[in-house]
Amino acid sequence: MKTKPLFIVMSAPSGCGKSTLIDLLLQEYPDLQYSISCTTRNPRDCEEDGIDYHFMTMERFRELLDQDAFLEYAKVHDNYYGTLKGPINDVLKEGNSMILDIDVAGAAKVRHYVMHHLPPTDPMRAGYVDVFINPPSMEELRARLEGRGTDAPEVIERRLINAEGEMARAHEYMHQVTNDDLTIAYKRLCDLIDAYSNRM
Ligand code: 5GP
Repeated sequence: MKTKPLFIVMSAPSGCGKSTLIDLLLQEYPDLQYSISCTTRNPRDCEEDGIDYHFMTMERFRELLDQDAFLEYAKVHDNYYGTLKGPINDVLKEGNSMILDIDVAGAAKVRHYVMHHLPPTDPMRAGYVDVFINPPSMEELRARLEGRGTDAPEVIERRLINAEGEMARAHEYMHQVTNDDLTIAYKRLCDLIDAYSNRM
């Protein structure tokens, strides 16, 4: 049975396990695709261009901005991040679902655009669902960021301050999931997807 295509917007402070959750979802749902964002930040060791992000210079990012290629963009931790419109429209038109991993500012822009500028029949609006992933606690978030070993201490401090600001806006989302136990958080996300896409 063909299920309803979803347009899922997910946000979480970095270190909340969001990438792990998204990877699991992509394995579980073959019709779900990940929106690869553009970013001006440098790749981390484990990251690949065209898979995790489209890594690019500020100059290229500006070109795409001038071409109106972004559904939204935002400056996060001193770098620019943007969501390309084209792939989202293509995937939804094919009847598949898209998942976005964007910050709260970007999510607010997308939510406003979808709810106020698109007709209810548009696939982006008809399939829209947004979720905020909470860390178990600030202490745990700090431990995870430090344990990851990828960011300098000042970057971690900036991410933690940013996390508090993001968590203060969690109520704007249709759903919140706390990732204190990966299996439980994952199950909750699967339940949400199944319910919204009429997979039950
Ligand atoms: P990171 O550098 O850890 O990969 O991501 C930092 C933050 O940028 C995360 O909160 C992530 O959700 C956000 N982000 C990633 N891609 C986009 C995007 O295309 N737009 C916006 N607004 N935020 C993004």
